[in-house]
Order: sequence, then structure tokens, then C-alpha cells
Amino acid sequence: MTTAVGIKGHCAHCDITFELKPWQLNAIAIEEPFDCPYCQRVLELNCPRQLRHFKALDHWALVRPSMAVLTSMVLIVALVTEWVGLISVIGQLNVSLVVLLAHFLVLRYARHRQRMTLNLQAVIPVLPIEQLARIAGARLGQQ
Ligand SMILES: [Zn+2]
Repeated sequence: MTTAVGIKGHCAHCDITFELKPWQLNAIAIEEPFDCPYCQRVLELNCPRQLRHFKALDHWALVRPSMAVLTSMVLIVALVTEWVGLISVIGQLNVSLVVLLAHFLVLRYARHRQRMTLNLQAVIPVLPIEQLARIAGARLGQQ
């Protein structure tokens, strides 16, 4: 994952928020439970909305390079159109300023979207069916 920065996890069991390590982010990405580093409970992200948001982070990582390309292209085009006399110097400056402003706003929004805290729930251990059957069998045997 390229978007490992700024993602935190909140353990619902011990109520501690911690920075998620790349391997923990990978575990979440493949929906694999992992241990809480503080209370050792097995945690997983079972909120579908947060999981969707988390999986969309990869797209946000592409925003920065594509915005850099787009902004430079617009700046060059504005410069060239000014050189060939299609727009005035003021016009060129206006276009450049608006594009730079838009560039920083988009990056700010992307950074804001990437900073998130995942609410991790402790997994309730599920008893295997065989064990349940054995318990049931033992109970029946006692009667
Ligand atoms: Zn914990």
C-alpha cells in the first residue's frame, strides 16, 4: 500500500487509538483479523462503510501525481497562449492563479480523505461446530 501514512486504528476493546503499521493495513485490506498491539485481542474492521472508504484510499494516492501533471499542463498552455497573443498577461496570470489554487485545494481534500481512524472491533471467538456438538452430546449424556 502506498497510502500507509496517517491511518489510525481504534481498538474497541481497550479504547486505544494507534498508528497502523503497513502489515496491519495489509491485513485489513485482505479482511484478515490481526492482534491488537495493546490488549492482544483479535481485531477486524467489520464496518462496511469504513472498509469501502479504506479500499478507496489507493485511488486518492494517485491524485497527487495526476494533479501535478494536469496543473503543469495548464500552466504551460496558458503561457503559450499568452506568447502567441491569444490572451493578455493579466489573463495568463489569472488562469495560472486559479489553477494553482485549485491544485492546492484538491491536494488538501485528498490529504483530508486519507487521514482516517478505523474502528476495529474485537472478534468474538466462534466455537467450532464439533466442539459445540461435543458439548451438546455431553449435556444430553448427563440427563
Ligand atoms: Zn486493544
